Amino acid sequence: MPYQAEYIWIDGTTPSPLVRSKTRIVADGKQPGIWGFDGSSTNQATGDNSDCVLRPVYVCKDPLRGPTDKLVMCEVLLTDMTPHPTNTRAACAATAKKYASFEPWFGIEQEYTFIQNNRPLGWPENGYPAPQGPYYCGVGGDKMPGREIVEAHTAACIRAGIAIEGTNAEVMMGQWEFQIGVLAPPAIGDQLWVARWLLFRIAEDFGVYATLEPKPMLGDWNGAGAHTNFSTKQMRAPGGWTAIIAGCEAIGTRVHEHISSYGHGIESRLTGAHETARWDKFSYGTSDRGASIRIPWGTARDKRGWLEDRRPNANMDPYVVSRVIVETVCSAASSTRRPGAKKATRAAKATKTARATKSPRTAKVAKTAKVAARATKARTTKKAAPAKRGSRAR
Ligand code: ADP
Ligand code: MN
Ligand code: MN
Ligand code: MN
Repeated sequence: MPYQAEYIWIDGTTPSPLVRSKTRIVADGKQPGIWGFDGSSTNQATGDNSDCVLRPVYVCKDPLRGPTDKLVMCEVLLTDMTPHPTNTRAACAATAKKYASFEPWFGIEQEYTFIQNNRPLGWPENGYPAPQGPYYCGVGGDKMPGREIVEAHTAACIRAGIAIEGTNAEVMMGQWEFQIGVLAPPAIGDQLWVARWLLFRIAEDFGVYATLEPKPMLGDWNGAGAHTNFSTKQMRAPGGWTAIIAGCEAIGTRVHEHISSYGHGIESRLTGAHETARWDKFSYGTSDRGASIRIPWGTARDKRGWLEDRRPNANMDPYVVSRVIVETVCSAASSTRRPGAKKATRAAKATKTARATKSPRTAKVAKTAKVAARATKARTTKKAAPAKRGSRAR
């Protein structure tokens, strides 16, 4: 019996690409091979030269069809079999290969919002639901719209064999999260894109759509991010703390390059309010959910583990984000510069500014930097304060 292979790819829509897919019937015993599509309908080609090539990069079970059916994540190539300009995976794979000896791992927390009738799911037609507070990890009554879709999506990811790690309801009503990881690049991108496709596809059956908009509701409502957790072999090994701080410092030298790779509309989400770090400021600190990069408390305790870049938007491209992080952190670690040289400077500078201006925002950065500086000296860090609840993005 032939089986169905759903070929999935990323299109050329700007500023944020869409996922596309189409079905191919494949003969029994055959692997899904090279295929093609009309790029003039996906912003990937002109009508007079419309053919684009689909090359399978990740194949898994299709949890929505029969037991032999498959989902086929593809990269897009030109007809000369070189990467299409919209193909962000090729560069990600090249960077991953270059720095393979670092054994980089990623875990990504994908937040998203269900929308129905142009409003977040469960929101009244006019006005607003009760303010944020009870929805994060909430349960009961009509507070948790979308749960049945989340359940169906989670089960589907597990059946497909995708590395889904967990789910939770988010701070804004109608907003949810799932996590994928830990995986090396470019696999983290492959599996996150397939998990997104499954979410969009399953939501169809409920008459709802899921959006990755970073700030679906303006005003006093949380945005949607994709916190990106990252480690290298050195960070995970005993004494990995030094490599983690060096990683934070390296990322801090390329703030604008990272921000411009972290998803369209990031300024609308990283306002500095709702306990996000402002998009044009950089800070890192232990357990600090208002910092650009948070070092989880367990990592601070064990002096090894991983870092969490909290800035990427929900609508980011994981091929781009993982490439940029690996490039920044691993190229800095590869260079011969002693990794202690710059650290004190940032902390000192931030402290000085804070003293000069006495603005609470800068003071906060200074505090964060101070924590980091303390950490740099590898002294015992103070016990991590429990994360405050409320409007913080998890
Ligand atoms: P929180 O909401 O508190 O930020 P989550 O449980 O949602 O935490 O996400 C934690 C993420 O950290 C997961 O995606 C997981 O894969 C990731 N993670 C755990 N260990 C590592 C590691 N060694 N390297 C990179 N990421 C990691
Ligand atoms: Mn979250
Ligand atoms: Mn997080
Ligand atoms: Mn989370």
